[in-house]
Amino acid sequence: MKVFKFGGASVKDASAVKNMAGIVLPYATKQPILVVVSAMGKTTNALEKLLDDWLDQQQYADNLNHLKAYHLQIAQDLFPANGAAIFQQLEASFIQLEHLVTHASKEKYDEDYDQVVGMGEVISTYLVSAYLQQTGIACQWLDAREFIRTDTRWREGKVDWDWSEKLITKEVLPLLSMHSVVTQGFIGGTVGKKTTTLGREGSDYSAAIFAYCLKAESLTIWKDVPGILNADPKLVEETHLYPQLSYNEAAEMTYYGATVIHPKTIKPLANRKIPLYVRSFIHPASIGTQISDAKLDYIIPAIIFKPHQCLISFGVRDFTFITEKNLSTILHALANLNIKINMMQNSAISFSICTDQQSRRIIALKESLQDDFAIYFNENLQLITVKHYDEATIQQVIDRKEILLEQKTRHTFQVLVRE
Ligand code: ASP
Ligand code: MG
Repeated sequence: MKVFKFGGASVKDASAVKNMAGIVLPYATKQPILVVVSAMGKTTNALEKLLDDWLDQQQYADNLNHLKAYHLQIAQDLFPANGAAIFQQLEASFIQLEHLVTHASKEKYDEDYDQVVGMGEVISTYLVSAYLQQTGIACQWLDAREFIRTDTRWREGKVDWDWSEKLITKEVLPLLSMHSVVTQGFIGGTVGKKTTTLGREGSDYSAAIFAYCLKAESLTIWKDVPGILNADPKLVEETHLYPQLSYNEAAEMTYYGATVIHPKTIKPLANRKIPLYVRSFIHPASIGTQISDAKLDYIIPAIIFKPHQCLISFGVRDFTFITEKNLSTILHALANLNIKINMMQNSAISFSICTDQQSRRIIALKESLQDDFAIYFNENLQLITVKHYDEATIQQVIDRKEILLEQKTRHTFQVLVRE
């Protein structure tokens, strides 16, 4: 059984939904599939803004009406003749959404965020599943919150794998022997039936969770790029498609900042050796990238840009050298504040780390360490990683840039430059 995942761009308007239905149809008529869908277009951003406006006592109603009009337009284009039921469902969903927004509070921000922002996927799957049915694909809408069980770590729900796998095997697998299923990416549910989200862009991860629990034959993520490229085509002129990659290689790329798939997607698939295909919904006939446990002899250099980086250097104050004890103090403070190190370097009198620019945490770090160390900051930097580098690629990426830190291992070259 196959699992398909469609992101926001692939369902951003009525013609996009029709295109995705065209991709699903030939597969679903052969054998039922599980389809995981994200919120339509930029809905998640719009929902975040709606919530923030409400909490900041700004006017929110216009944006809510925009969002409703956007979905209504898609519904009118998809269901011109009938579909009274879907219009009622939309109406009810927007009443529920407004209720959730206007009952949110700053004190419970993260929890309320999940209730509000998770609605994007709920609404999008109502529309998509009704449309697939209209095109003659036998399918059922499924509430992912009842099957992906998480703890109450709001905005980053931690999945209860055992529980989810048991329930999905018991209840979703039998459904899939009869017809296809459409469900939401990005959201899960708690014991107390509250919505949780799995982190921004988390629908890929949802699809991997379902694929794992269903022991699916494969997962296909349909994207607006031809597959996994060796660099972001928005940033690099000439890019190459990887026809094949190993799980390790793909996971490392996401670690260094490649955004083509969510970093948590690979592990569950690798654990069950489920192949992951990344393919284009614009050119569905082309094969894209296959990620599996294949061993590859040669890999084209991958160039990965991680923007919004900050270099923090800690110097000892008393003309002694940096010791293991100093390092341990610094690393403890970083771990306590959940600050992730993207690169680090040690010298006689200072220790430097590169981390994501996240002002609140960095201020807290400064407060906790400034008595022991002289701390220097450099902001607005970019971390560039080249995996499987060659000289030509290195020259291409550093081209006239101001370098603050550089590191080379056998397979990986990293450089921190000004943005
Ligand atoms: N809609 C969610 C987001 O935009 C999840 C996803 O797209 O994967 O973050
Ligand atoms: Mg999205």
